[in-house]
Amino acid sequence: MSLRRVISALRPEIRTYGDLNLAFVEHSHVLNALSDFHFDGIVVKDPGLISEIRRSDQLYLKPILWEEGDCAGADGTFDKDQPTRITHKIQKINEAAEQFVGLPLPGNGNDRLVAKLLRLLISRSTPLSPRATRDRRIGYALDMLENLSVEQDQLQLIKFLNHYTDKGYFRRKLMDRVNLCYECESGYLNFSECCSSCESIDLKSEQLIHHFRCAYIGPESDYKRGEILECPKCNHVLKHIGIDYDKPSEIHTCMDCNHTSQETAMKAKCVDCGRDNALDKLSTHAIYEYRVTESGTEFSKSTRNQMQPNLMMDASDSDEYVPFAVYQILRSHESRKQDLYENGLSELRISVSEQILGSLNSGLRKGLLTELAGIVKPYLKHQDILSINTDFQITILLLNYSGEAQQQLRDMLEYNLDKMLRDNQWTRDKAVEISISLLES
Ligand SMILES: [Zn+2]
Ligand SMILES: [Zn+2]
Ligand SMILES: [Zn+2]
Repeated sequence: MSLRRVISALRPEIRTYGDLNLAFVEHSHVLNALSDFHFDGIVVKDPGLISEIRRSDQLYLKPILWEEGDCAGADGTFDKDQPTRITHKIQKINEAAEQFVGLPLPGNGNDRLVAKLLRLLISRSTPLSPRATRDRRIGYALDMLENLSVEQDQLQLIKFLNHYTDKGYFRRKLMDRVNLCYECESGYLNFSECCSSCESIDLKSEQLIHHFRCAYIGPESDYKRGEILECPKCNHVLKHIGIDYDKPSEIHTCMDCNHTSQETAMKAKCVDCGRDNALDKLSTHAIYEYRVTESGTEFSKSTRNQMQPNLMMDASDSDEYVPFAVYQILRSHESRKQDLYENGLSELRISVSEQILGSLNSGLRKGLLTELAGIVKPYLKHQDILSINTDFQITILLLNYSGEAQQQLRDMLEYNLDKMLRDNQWTRDKAVEISISLLES
């Protein structure tokens, strides 16, 4: 590719239709440059770009149009034959979004996410409505929120929304209840009748016949003789239902265990994981529509607590860890007596990805690491020693951990720190690396 083509590929294509300036975006690498240009809305050629735009703190409130018809999470359709048809709608969104221009977002991950969601809903004057779809495990999508969040598990998103409903930011309305597999929380279930004794679905169901004349009751097969029905007890032929006989109920015979019964059980087989669920074991979740309340509106505009308090904390005030110089002294002290420990001494190092650290100045880096140290601390034994080294790694001296215990700790920390950083939208890639080395005496 020639240099000129590379450069032009990085420039958004902006077209003007009457009062409307629309940026046409084909690739995500254009998005970074986009905030330097003036335009009213973004036309995307790939629906995957919608979430990239919504996750950008600069662009998330911009009206997004899709080129081809309806698309969940977009604000409308770009009709190339009548491009100005959407002008009014775009202007309304931009006017409403004006009130948020220049307002910072909260620093805390979840508060930040809910603030963006509230602003998005307010500027579109719409509730967050669940959309029924086969594309989601639970059968419903929450498009606006899914696009904003790195979390893609709908049940977690519902939990998040319910948390902020409890805080008063949303008013919710029950739309549906979903019954999900107990094992994997999928909504794709196949319901079937089964044997009440052994749960086999191989049932033979027959009508019971009650012969009025002799009061015999038995399954239809007892009476069948070729095309006619003849009572096995009194040998009379049965002709008219309601006069000679009636069919009071059904009887089910299990082909696997021979159990016969007038009752059957029901079970729900999960299409995704294969588990047979008893109906009373299904996990039931309410699906709501969420409307922004007055306190939600207030929160979306509030600039209180918008700083990043934890990150601004002076790291030296922390009691989460010891200064690295002290750590080094303690380490050499411990290594001299390490024969006392059956499993010896090891050092665990947590490195946060360069993608995250590289975007922070040294004060913020320390702040972030202090916060992470606070998360790590409860997983350690009280005699373990925690510090932050000069390479901005969290360093922990582990006293007497077996190989298995080390592995467990490492897995747990990796999972929790990674999740914390991703939930806070620091990154979508792997956020931390953890290494453990044994210290030689
Ligand atoms: Zn059975
Ligand atoms: Zn009879
Ligand atoms: Zn399942």
